Amino acid sequence: MTEKAGFVGLGIMGQGMSRNLLKAGFPLTVWNRTASKMDALVEAGAKAAASPGEVAANSDITVICVSDTPDVEAVILGPDGILSSAKPGSVVIDCSTISPIVTRQLHQKLAEKGVALLDAPVSGGSEGAAKGTLSIMVGGAAETFQRALPVLQAMGSKITLVGESGAGQTVKLVNQILVANSMLAVGEALLFAQAGGVDLEKALEAVSAGAAGSWTLSNRGPQVIRRDWRPGFMIDLQQKDVRLILDAAAKLGAPVPGTALVHQLYNTLQKQGLGSEGNHALVKALENLAGFKIEPVSGQ
Ligand code: NAP
Repeated sequence: MTEKAGFVGLGIMGQGMSRNLLKAGFPLTVWNRTASKMDALVEAGAKAAASPGEVAANSDITVICVSDTPDVEAVILGPDGILSSAKPGSVVIDCSTISPIVTRQLHQKLAEKGVALLDAPVSGGSEGAAKGTLSIMVGGAAETFQRALPVLQAMGSKITLVGESGAGQTVKLVNQILVANSMLAVGEALLFAQAGGVDLEKALEAVSAGAAGSWTLSNRGPQVIRRDWRPGFMIDLQQKDVRLILDAAAKLGAPVPGTALVHQLYNTLQKQGLGSEGNHALVKALENLAGFKIEPVSGQ
């Protein structure tokens, strides 16, 4: 029998992910703090709830995708939160990127009520969320993972159980070290190409297929060249992840000098009020140092 699904948090990621649950045939109840963001999902066949608790009461598997650690705590532990109404035997899948330590605490609190938690942060951007091709790194019990697999497969194409509760969030931070440093490399490389007077589109085409190719280069490089700063992933949220990395690295004693530099550069952009631009706008911090800019390609 198809399990009833719920979704809490219909932002840039949640919109596409919840729509893919509907497409896969899951009966779906949704809630979003800003109620108007539920309209398109309701039109597509979802039921709107009045609180995260109401979503959990109506669902066998409830997916969460909100911004930061305190926000996940609010929708689980807050008044009318998931913990207040979730059915024993149900599953919560948290797809937000948050603290691994708080994840383990939430796992414990939910377990006391007979509710299983999987941490299942995602990678693949708004594009991956819309297409259902996210990479999902999961922490939790193997039997919960098996049960949740059809829901995870509706949202992603690479699903990996990486360990116990919290391990998914740790691996997501590994992912974010790679993303943050790639974004710096893309900005540095394109600004250098600009200074060298070469055609940026041709340069991008030439290097994308070789050893330097990456998701970041192929998806965000063209946006940088067009000076299109619309967010797939906002600077403010990227900085939240970088902060999670720096906190964890300090506790673990792992050196992350590249990520620390990226943190400083994003900080200058946040101070200029650019926190809601896409994370590829990191190049603007380098432009400020350079005193020249990437020129938009003519005709675009
Ligand atoms: P977003 O567009 O800013 O959406 C954030 C969502 O969280 C919105 O639905 C927002 O509700 C909700 N929210 C925030 N604080 C809340 C609170 N205290 N109580 C209830 N709801 C709250 O962000 P996003 O890009 O979808 O990212 C969501 C999560 O996915 C983040 O953890 C992010 O790090 C992770 N992620 C994002 C990407 C990406 O490329 N965008 C990729 C991988 C992972 P309102 O609509 O009311 O503001």
